[in-house]
Amino acid sequence: MTDNLPTFERSPILPNVEEDKEIWQPRWHCFCCQDTGQIQAHLVSLIIPDYDPNRDRIPVCQGCNKFDRHNLRDYGVLDTRFDLFLCKKLDAISRADWKQVKELQFEKYKNLLDIATDQIAKTHSLASSCKELQT
Ligand SMILES: [Zn+2]
Repeated sequence: MTDNLPTFERSPILPNVEEDKEIWQPRWHCFCCQDTGQIQAHLVSLIIPDYDPNRDRIPVCQGCNKFDRHNLRDYGVLDTRFDLFLCKKLDAISRADWKQVKELQFEKYKNLLDIATDQIAKTHSLASSCKELQT
């Protein structure tokens, strides 16, 4: 009865994105502002220790070309003291942080795998010792 029906391929609306993909491979190019033009708050606080993102001028990234694209200039509330040199430095710091995050993630997965392997080994040895008792 289904012989005459055509077969279609799936036509997904959403791409199949793995949950943790961002952890392993960030999708931005500039680590200073994550391609937003606005320097990440935790990086800003390295330079302005008491930085308040809700009340202070927006520190704009000058290490990439995202600054103009997002028309941030129109707001007139920008902190432009972070020059190219400083943004590149913050970029490097953020990259190093990411490397560490990736390594920590790797450690976490490795540990989980070790625990699982250990459990399998334990159940296996339990099973075999039961067998030994029976014989
Ligand atoms: Zn940037």
